[in-house]
Amino acid sequence: MDAESIADAAYIVAALLFILALAGLSRHESSRQGIIYGIAGMAIALVAVSGQVFENIDAEGGLLLAVAVVIGAGIGLWRAKVVEMTGMPELIALLHSFVGLAAVLVGWNGYYEVEDDPNQTEFAGSLLDIHHAEVFIGVFIGAVTFTGSIVAYLKLSAKIKSAPLMLPAKNLLNIGMLVAFAGLTIAFTVEPSLGLLIAVTVVALALGVHLVASIGGGDMPVVVSMLNSYSGWAAAASGFLLSNNLLITTGALVGSSGAYLSFIMCKAMNRSFISVIAGGFGIEAPAGEDTEYGEHREINADGAAEMLADADSVIITPGYGMATAQAQHAVAELTRKLRERGITVRFGIHPVAGRLPGHMNVLLAEAKVPYDIVLEMDEINDDFPSTSVVLVIGANDTVNPAAIDDPTSPIAGMPVLHVWESSHVIVFKRSMATGYAGVQNPLFFKENTQMLFGDAKARVEDILRGLDLLVSAGSGSAHR
Ligand code: NDP
Repeated sequence: MDAESIADAAYIVAALLFILALAGLSRHESSRQGIIYGIAGMAIALVAVSGQVFENIDAEGGLLLAVAVVIGAGIGLWRAKVVEMTGMPELIALLHSFVGLAAVLVGWNGYYEVEDDPNQTEFAGSLLDIHHAEVFIGVFIGAVTFTGSIVAYLKLSAKIKSAPLMLPAKNLLNIGMLVAFAGLTIAFTVEPSLGLLIAVTVVALALGVHLVASIGGGDMPVVVSMLNSYSGWAAAASGFLLSNNLLITTGALVGSSGAYLSFIMCKAMNRSFISVIAGGFGIEAPAGEDTEYGEHREINADGAAEMLADADSVIITPGYGMATAQAQHAVAELTRKLRERGITVRFGIHPVAGRLPGHMNVLLAEAKVPYDIVLEMDEINDDFPSTSVVLVIGANDTVNPAAIDDPTSPIAGMPVLHVWESSHVIVFKRSMATGYAGVQNPLFFKENTQMLFGDAKARVEDILRGLDLLVSAGSGSAHR
């Protein structure tokens, strides 16, 4: 068997392992197995591609490649070790930008390969036209992914505001850039030139910035999975240019699974898929936020402990603030104490709470909260009216009634947890600041809501101490 056939066989095995990895990652119980399949697939792919490359380059090139791989792997290992869970989405966005940039460079290289040596080229006639189209499409998808991911990274890491950019005629702008791309592609296929390649790169870089900048904070989860999809298609385009079957297969897997995840998330958040992938197409600027909500009420930890001690049933709705405060262990301890007193405690998890799909589930599992009391939003939303106390721990957008009551709100239509329908709501946060989507939350001003200000972990620990004091003072109602 020659080296080429061995590499092809290895690519098939790696592709199958990637499919098994995706299947494993789709369920909690099999996710660890899925990751092992993914690592094995990637290791096989790396060995196979290195073997092929080393066969075709000289010693100097080989050394350069080895040094680049060692530096890259070192940085990757270091970042993976130090990244906080709350920093994962921004790291993922940054990694997507590298895929985009790589696709742009591969595309430009594809152009120069033919330009520099038109007679030696393996392409002839219509094959050459296809090659030129591949170059153009690869550069376009790559450049959109590159700048789109950088803007997503800046938004997710709060380096720029998450509010949507609302340029006048933004939809026309997007359509104009797509039309320009189509026109440039035809022109380039007929008569390739450096000028056209520069033009498409600039148009695509601008489109990437505009698409993601136009999307509001509340829709960022979909943007991250959408860019994941784009990065897959960019990799597949590079695969065509490099004639690498594994890159084509893997790119298509990432592209289609990312698109499907975006579709599912849009459905869960009652968003139009087309509108989100087209950079908020059709969403017009919201009315200015000049609503006067009145005064908020406050409660301290001892008051909250007393209220909880008198409750029959409690629902905890955690959000991003629980993750930043690392309050999950204290919350698990509070849950255990309340359940010991005979109080029903359950968790209501919004599909986009936190900054990652499943973020809250992972934190609660880490703190050993039993799975059976952790319910999805749809499973628990009807139970709030019969609930004594809701603890909103570091959640904001996911419990915002404006999504239902205010059609002009940027989060209008997004399903939320109906916490305000319970008898009492206690909101744990440090200030009256807005959530990720940057919109004020009328929940904080409702009659039955009280704010418990401070770091979520410190406040939950204060409540635990308050409950202990109540026990030692022999207080609490009959069933405790
Ligand atoms: P939000 O981001 O809306 O709000 C979190 C709240 O936590 C803030 O209002 C903040 O208020 C508070 N907070 C922060 N740190 C602490 C702390 N140490 N102690 C107490 N409170 C704290 O959270 P949600 O989870 O409700 O909503 C998630 C948002 O993120 C949605 O808009 C979603 O679309 C978006 N998103 C979700 C992703 C996902 O995949 N899940 C990915 C990307 C974005 P204060 O500063 O006053 O303390």
